[in-house]
Amino acid sequence: MEVSERLARFVPVELTADRSDLDERKWALVRRLIAAGRQIHEIYLRQVWPGNPDLRERLASSGDPRDRERLRLFELMAGPWDRLDENRPFIGEQPRPPGGGFYPEDLTREEFEAYLAEHPQDRPAFTSPYTLIRRRDGALEAVPYHRAYRDFLEPAAESLLEAARLCDHPPLADYLSLRAQALLNDDYYESDCAWVALQSGPLEFLIGPYEVYDDHLFGYKAAYEGMLGRRDLEESARFQDLVEELPFLAAHLPVPPEYRGQVAGLSSPIVVADAVFNAGQMATVALATALVLPNDPRVRTTVGSKKVIFKNISRAKFEHLLRPVGERLLDPAQAEALFFENIFSHVLLHEVSHALGPQEVLRPDGSRLSRQQALRELYSVIEECKADALGLYNLLFLAGEGFFPREWEESAPGAFLAAVFRVIRFGTGSAHARANLLTFNFLRDEGAIRREVGSGRFRAEPRRVARSIAELAAILLRLEGDGDYEGAQALVRRYVQMPYELEEALERVRDLPVDLNPAYPWAEMASSAGSEPPVPPPANSPIARRR
Ligand code: ZN
Repeated sequence: MEVSERLARFVPVELTADRSDLDERKWALVRRLIAAGRQIHEIYLRQVWPGNPDLRERLASSGDPRDRERLRLFELMAGPWDRLDENRPFIGEQPRPPGGGFYPEDLTREEFEAYLAEHPQDRPAFTSPYTLIRRRDGALEAVPYHRAYRDFLEPAAESLLEAARLCDHPPLADYLSLRAQALLNDDYYESDCAWVALQSGPLEFLIGPYEVYDDHLFGYKAAYEGMLGRRDLEESARFQDLVEELPFLAAHLPVPPEYRGQVAGLSSPIVVADAVFNAGQMATVALATALVLPNDPRVRTTVGSKKVIFKNISRAKFEHLLRPVGERLLDPAQAEALFFENIFSHVLLHEVSHALGPQEVLRPDGSRLSRQQALRELYSVIEECKADALGLYNLLFLAGEGFFPREWEESAPGAFLAAVFRVIRFGTGSAHARANLLTFNFLRDEGAIRREVGSGRFRAEPRRVARSIAELAAILLRLEGDGDYEGAQALVRRYVQMPYELEEALERVRDLPVDLNPAYPWAEMASSAGSEPPVPPPANSPIARRR
């Protein structure tokens, strides 16, 4: 594939948000946050591959117009390998080193394991998410991130501390000062807890090393990422309204009372925001529409985690990726009726629906078991499918109750089907994609989805979908309540498969764009010079004060 062809798979979009109510001081704060993000982006480039900075320099200073395109693709991929094409190189021939910049390029798994077998006391440091492995005088050593990346982390921490002093929202100021400290000592626990606690104010911000996907050698090492979002207060309030409907929804689940469970409350708080700047791993494709962090199990057991859903990214994906798929594969009238609010409400109700239904298995002998223990490796498929099915069930129910426009009873099933196509397009590896296959095949078998013979287009029959989705939800709720592993196995075996007609349909959309190519106007504005209020001097360090 030519570079221009590769680039054409990504639709240019601006990710931005209203900033008219951010005064001078808040804007000065935003500039510090973006500056810190830029520093950790430099680290991330080196984590993916130490050769990245030189390659970027070469592309940026080249007069060859094709190098412009190469540079843009390089930025989307954070390196010369195509992440959406099995990491094939698009510049040069070199395959991606599996250990990236985390390990010496010539290090093999065998050598690493042999070293740990000989030096068991080094295991914690060597397998830590926050160390690099280097060779020194022929021997391996673990170098903590805060030492290896000091040149970038010190200015990043400085920017965060300045931002904290400009900040008049204590939960954010707290997070920023604690995180500044954590970047310099790799102890993230306290600042991770502060991040989960940060659930109000106009800005959502995250920075640090988190996901280990970029370590293809062992999956130990965390990659730096950063995100700045503008919290969507209206949408967050709307979501809160849905959460308040939980008892009402629980009382109307399509199962007998013993399968309705207790209303669990949400497992994690949810924030709806517009993304205005991504850095590090967050800035690469495929662009995430949501994140759930932190991963540290110690934080999860004490304060839980937080989920951020990016509404502007969701909307852009709807306009540029989902709608075109729907227009080709759906019955024309249903394609015409696709609109974003419908889809996004289903996304929110999916999250709400995770909290519905039996939360544990009650055995006939009175003993209790978690759903995960009972359903084992099938749990995530069943649970994701339940959230999808109940999400639609609840959406139709609430439309009937007047909570949503009444017309949604007609339009939501088609929108749901288009979303199923979009998810399945990217393969069936994830629990989410497998759940979508299950739902599609179930509805198809029930006659709720029909394929028109001549055109090959699909149509979701609203009334039949309403009936069948209630049936499917009931089956899944019973499986979870009974902890019925064999039942789950039978359901998955029967419905999680790729039928020929679906394969053929996906072939028809193969040429459509697969992801976004984002620009961040806030970051561009933040980089341009301008007058600024002075940063208040450090008071007694807020970190010291808090201890
Ligand atoms: Zn889910």
